[in-house]
Amino acid sequence: MSQTLTKKLVLFFPRYDCEQPIIYRLVKDHNLIVNVYRAKVTPEEEGYLVLDVTGDGQDIDNAMEFIKSCNVVVNHSGKGVSWDEHRCAHCGQCVTHCPTDALHVADPATRRIAFDEDECIECLACIKVCPFGACASAF
Ligand code: SF4
Ligand code: SF4
Repeated sequence: MSQTLTKKLVLFFPRYDCEQPIIYRLVKDHNLIVNVYRAKVTPEEEGYLVLDVTGDGQDIDNAMEFIKSCNVVVNHSGKGVSWDEHRCAHCGQCVTHCPTDALHVADPATRRIAFDEDECIECLACIKVCPFGACASAF
């Protein structure tokens, strides 16, 4: 029998074009208890949801897959900064401004950038310098 877990998540909606009622699906299809702390989502704008989900570990994993299928970026650390790999052009501009190497060159050969959310201290420097809007903050 799986353990019951609680996870804090920050969900970023680059553009809210998912027809699914996400919270309803988390409760009904994935048996999760959902506690929303903060929400700002409109049909035309970017937005975010800060929430706790409680449930079986496998149900949470399945729910994460569903959320990602809705073109929503999931930040598992519960921190307010996200990096959208689909928007990132790997220009490297943020790397020299990131004080903790949370944003770093993951592959020296291709110069591809990666984001380690556990290392992020939410200084917001990357948001100011990213020309492509790949970094965002919920707060
Ligand atoms: S918010 Fe600051 S620490 Fe976090 S990734 Fe951006 S620059 Fe790095
Ligand atoms: S500044 Fe923006 S586009 Fe450039 S590497 Fe960083 S996140 Fe990607």
